Amino acid sequence: MLILDGKIASAAVKADLLLQTQALKAAGKRTPHLAAILVGSNGASETYVASKVKNCEETGFESSLYRFDVNVDESILLQQIEALNKDPKVDGILVQLPLPKHISESKVIEAIHPAKDVDGFHPVNVGRLVQGLNTFIPATPYGIILMLEYFNIETKGKNAVVIGRSNIVGRPMSILLSSNIPQGNCTVTICHSHTKNLKEICAGADIIVAALGVPNFLTGDMIKPGAVIIDVGITRVEDATAKKGFRIKGDVNYEEAILKASAVTPVPGGVGLMTIAGLLKNTMKAYIGL
Ligand code: NAD
Repeated sequence: MLILDGKIASAAVKADLLLQTQALKAAGKRTPHLAAILVGSNGASETYVASKVKNCEETGFESSLYRFDVNVDESILLQQIEALNKDPKVDGILVQLPLPKHISESKVIEAIHPAKDVDGFHPVNVGRLVQGLNTFIPATPYGIILMLEYFNIETKGKNAVVIGRSNIVGRPMSILLSSNIPQGNCTVTICHSHTKNLKEICAGADIIVAALGVPNFLTGDMIKPGAVIIDVGITRVEDATAKKGFRIKGDVNYEEAILKASAVTPVPGGVGLMTIAGLLKNTMKAYIGL
């Protein structure tokens, strides 16, 4: 059984990016710059943004963080995005989701210039992804592709099941796995909250990507012997014995999965780290130009 260790795979991606930024610096050029926008002070969002900024620094990127009060006007946020769109020293713009209810996520996403949309959520970039054109792939599915590549996981001709159809994970993941790319060419079934016989569908899969946000959802009886299991789930589950008062749980019952699968991603230490690697790769891509 192979543990698909995100620490190892993301370190390889970051080492490669660091070499590129060092070469840029040596040539007297500026390095890629990621601007992150954070609204409010949601604990998980704070953690994600802090980690993204820290990883930028480790890779020799510049980063800047724009914080807004939870009650900020949508128009103020849009003005900030416009200023960053026009700033030639900013390559990538990221708005940490979710946003407060009074702000339209789609308006905010569409305000980001597609050439700086390092999260790959802009409809233009989603369209390019669907058509197999060069684009910014949303960071989490991109990170999973990078992980499959790093660990040489064969995907061609395999039956893949993606659980979850969100715009940020499940949907783009299903498109990538079915695409004619080295880590694609799967026959993909996309499952969601209305899927019937989900257990049977999973039990026939060679690769399962679980991205639904229900801790321990995927149990051993849903896993075909030798399957590859990718756990995207990150849920904070209250636990009084934990230092922070909660533990991070994935969507896969890890203890059961390792008895059946040929490869499994741990949580934490799996897809989350690869998501950051995907974001950094996209920021370098934005710097170079699509
Ligand atoms: P979402 O809530 O937007 O979407 C969840 C999807 O799961 C929906 O399409 C829904 O139909 C489906 N679903 C829910 N319950 C189901 C059930 N019982 N059976 C089948 N399908 C079901 O969530 P999301 O933003 O895609 O995130 C999913 C999980 O991944 C969350 O735990 C989130 O925190 C995590 N996540 C992790 C990373 C990372 O870097 N590791 C990145 C993004 C999201």
